[in-house]
Amino acid sequence: MCSIIGYYGKGFAAPILVKGLKRMEYRGYDSVGVATESNNQIELKKGIGKVNEVNSKIHLDTLPGKIGIGHTRWATHGKVTDFNAHPHSSNSGKIAIVHNGIIENFEELKKQLEEEGYNFKSETDSEIIANLLQKHYEKTGDVKETILKTVSEIKGHYAFVAMFENGQLAAARFHEPLIIGIGQDDFFLSSDVLGFIEFTDDAIYLENGTFVILEKDKFQILDFDGEHAKYGITKVSKEFGDAYKGDYAHFTLKEIYEQPETILKAGEKSQEAIEKTVDYIRHSKNIYVTGSGTSYNSALIAKQILSKYAKIRVDPIIASELQFAPDSIEENSIIIAISQSGESADVLEAIKIGKQANCKIIAIVNLLTSSLAREADVVIGMNCGPEIGVAATKSFSAQLVILYKIVQKLSNNKITINFEKFAESIVETLENTTKIQMIAGKLKEISDVYILGRGINHPIAIEAALKLKELTYIHAEGIAGGELKHGPLALMDTNVFVIIFNPNDSTYADTLTSAREIKARGAKIIGVSDIESDVYDYWIKIPKINQVLYPISEIIPVQLLSYYAALEKDTDPDYPRNLAKSVTVK
Ligand code: GLU
Repeated sequence: MCSIIGYYGKGFAAPILVKGLKRMEYRGYDSVGVATESNNQIELKKGIGKVNEVNSKIHLDTLPGKIGIGHTRWATHGKVTDFNAHPHSSNSGKIAIVHNGIIENFEELKKQLEEEGYNFKSETDSEIIANLLQKHYEKTGDVKETILKTVSEIKGHYAFVAMFENGQLAAARFHEPLIIGIGQDDFFLSSDVLGFIEFTDDAIYLENGTFVILEKDKFQILDFDGEHAKYGITKVSKEFGDAYKGDYAHFTLKEIYEQPETILKAGEKSQEAIEKTVDYIRHSKNIYVTGSGTSYNSALIAKQILSKYAKIRVDPIIASELQFAPDSIEENSIIIAISQSGESADVLEAIKIGKQANCKIIAIVNLLTSSLAREADVVIGMNCGPEIGVAATKSFSAQLVILYKIVQKLSNNKITINFEKFAESIVETLENTTKIQMIAGKLKEISDVYILGRGINHPIAIEAALKLKELTYIHAEGIAGGELKHGPLALMDTNVFVIIFNPNDSTYADTLTSAREIKARGAKIIGVSDIESDVYDYWIKIPKINQVLYPISEIIPVQLLSYYAALEKDTDPDYPRNLAKSVTVK
């Protein structure tokens, strides 16, 4: 999702801001802009496109001054246009803002401001913040009062940074991430530590409902009642600044290849948290698992493995759906919330509902400094390093490994998993991609792919469809094998490819029959299995392993297939169109 950034210090702001925005590109965006203050004047440049593209056209990084703000926008209100790009300046030109999130009551506020004579140049909800700030600043002449009045009027989810013509910077946070980086001679404000990690690893994670005012060499952090707010300075893991592709063509490919290591490391530093989770699960009547996208698919797998191996029932819930059925959560239950970034607005909203029902929150999360980690009662770290590619790959494997570790303990070690051996078998898949690349070439002209799996392979079919959609823009659908005859069979013809997840487990024979039924209708079959069959037009071999591990060994070839098909289709695998890495708006 969009990134906001601010700089206040002794260096030239614009190049620092552009660099920071570049490092946060993975979050997803459609336009970019920077504004700086110099000699009590605000200058601003912005445009549609990638940071480098826009910068080489209009030279964002040459703006003068040592104070500035920057933004990469992921449009929610108003088209992707230069005017709608941030920063937005107030009518007087004396205040500029960047905003992440949504102002829900912007129409009402805009109307009021228009009646008072303010004009609007953009279609965004964000521009009202700039003019509200101007209105209050003109009345009070005081930044603190101005911010307090403004936040008392706006509703929604937001983080914004405001720059005043006199060089003051202020930033407020309400349900969107905002972090202060404390440098030697400078301050940074950013949605993500990657915005400043190169300069400092000292950070303050602003609490929800607080704001900061930066002045020469000092800052004050206040809550929305104007009282001093508590804060702590955290050392940020440098690891999260280590976001380089190395020798790989794309982050996504690098992250796919990191999975053997992910398998060994996931949850490694969270033994105690895993023990605690097991204890909570054992003593709770109701267990819910929530997440969005790939993390929700992990929740579906959690349901299958907990019931099969530990005889424990869990309810998977799509995070964004919980708000429409809050009563489905029983009081005093457990919610396992899964999120790579820990900033997914839907997941944060879901745990809020859980907390209202007095539930214990267990977070499975990659970023241990994220909002989710800070809100949770127990935190299990995925420990898989930064995941930059928008499509989740290694974080999915990390989530599953953690779930396996939980299930192992719950089953009193009835299931034994040799993760070292498993990691080795994955290396084998990763080293043999020629066939996968060949099949990717065949998908280039295909517009529909169906993916079939039964039992534990069904959520993997859903996850595989998600990878194909995200990376290749091909329409893909995951289907429970038994449902084929109840509808999807009507779609099978010679223009269709079908991926069949058919490992050697209890689903094997039925799924092989489904493959034959599909083949009889002319569709091409890609079989992902440890057993070869003549029904497959293309066989992707997976290792013969412990059944419980099939999900990871099945998804990796499809991650690769989706990646190579993206290259064939000339789409950007790291930054799929219209998508963002951490979806921080609802
Ligand atoms: N709602 C604002 C807009 O559409 C900000 C979106 C964002 O977070 O990038 O401009």
